[in-house]
Amino acid sequence: MQTERLSADADGIRRAAALLTAGGIVAIPTETVYGLAADATNEAAILRVFAAKGRPQDNPLIVHIADLADLPRLAKEIPDTAYALAKRFWPGPLTLVLKRTDAVADCVSAGLDTVAVRMPSHPVAREIIRASVPLAAPSANTSGAPSPTEAGHVLHDLDGKIDAVVLGDRCTVGVESTVVSLAVTPPRLLRPGGISAEQLREVLPDLVLDQAILHQPEPHARVASPGMKYQHYAPQTKCFLVEGTGEQFIDYVNRKPACAALCFSEEASRLTVPHLDYGRGSSAEELAQNLFAALRRADDFGVAEIYIHAPQKTGVGLAVYNRLIRAAAFQVISL
Ligand code: AMP
Ligand code: MG
Repeated sequence: MQTERLSADADGIRRAAALLTAGGIVAIPTETVYGLAADATNEAAILRVFAAKGRPQDNPLIVHIADLADLPRLAKEIPDTAYALAKRFWPGPLTLVLKRTDAVADCVSAGLDTVAVRMPSHPVAREIIRASVPLAAPSANTSGAPSPTEAGHVLHDLDGKIDAVVLGDRCTVGVESTVVSLAVTPPRLLRPGGISAEQLREVLPDLVLDQAILHQPEPHARVASPGMKYQHYAPQTKCFLVEGTGEQFIDYVNRKPACAALCFSEEASRLTVPHLDYGRGSSAEELAQNLFAALRRADDFGVAEIYIHAPQKTGVGLAVYNRLIRAAAFQVISL
């Protein structure tokens, strides 16, 4: 299959919307990461998304809407808290898990009685949805690889496997949306993302954090967010997540033979091993923005082991930590 390259202008948006309405699968830019979109009500189109990504079919997809008026078609028994969160954080990187209606294709929800919904803020994503239909869209990467934050990442993984890609800019948030379930009491944070737990607590004071955010699920355990149980974001090279101060990290890594480091920019000049910085340690937003592009380059070092300096687990840092602990297959070194 020839993957069409579409520009992120009115013509490209029109073509993307036409392909999607006709059951096509198209990668589109959003503020979080690039998404691989399909009509959320078209079972056959959704199955093509799973196939192109090699995504396990028990891992449900997020449905993207452009207007709040689209929500009651997809979800039912919508609590007031959903509207309070929508008012505060939509459009933006927050996904709400709610009881689903029959309009949602079964395979979108992977057999669950809930649906995950979000309203992206990216103008191109919004215009494509407005010109087509609600779109189910997981990240536009091969399952298991780091999520794509640039159109080039999408083409690297999916060129020839999807109908088109809309060539937008680099994603501004850089990590996927925050996923909160309002289908359980108390509300539960299933995946940290661009909206922090601290921000959510301003609206949801009783929010609890799911175990799977920072801990490896037991084999065969039923996890609230199926995506959390899979190997994710991982370079081929063995990675370790290292917790400690800048001084400790520099000391530790410089004494290791045949390794490379993924470090904060403040540390780069003092490392004697090959290294790549993924932003200032003092800015979780910057680390989030650069994280996946850095993980995609990690294998270029050609070393046996990579040591990654862990961010603080506060604010958007919790989302970065959550992705890195999976990239490192839960191998954490505390200095
Ligand atoms: P991705 O689109 O690749 O970022 O993955 C979507 C994430 O949302 C995965 O971690 C899913 O497990 C999660 N998700 C989607 N739908 C639901 C749902 N109905 N209930 C719980 N988690 C969901
Ligand atoms: Mg994904």
